[in-house]
Amino acid sequence: MSVERAARRRERLFRSQDGICPACRLPLPGDLAGAEVDHIIPRSRGGPDLLWNRRLVHFKCNRDKGTGLTDEAVALAAEHGVILREPPVRVRKHWRDWVPGVPGWLAAGEFARDN
Ligand SMILES: [Zn+2]
Repeated sequence: MSVERAARRRERLFRSQDGICPACRLPLPGDLAGAEVDHIIPRSRGGPDLLWNRRLVHFKCNRDKGTGLTDEAVALAAEHGVILREPPVRVRKHWRDWVPGVPGWLAAGEFARDN
């Protein structure tokens, strides 16, 4: 995704949320510094990268959540028929970050099969 498209996506979420972080109910910074896109159902638990699963939160609020499932995530998964996966044994990052030969990372092909 281009930088411009990522920025537009964040601005759209910012407007749709009236500038409020849904995790802590406090305002997000107007310049979106320190805010990031969160997947309500974590990607590691089978959550898709779709608009209904995205929200903009403070960087810190996202770190606090980790791979845990909120009540909202469970409800959303039921609503959209998402099969929740077990939490990963190791923190899985995006396949683009995959580095060959580093223990604990899945092979690139395994990531592809997940989607
Ligand atoms: Zn917050």
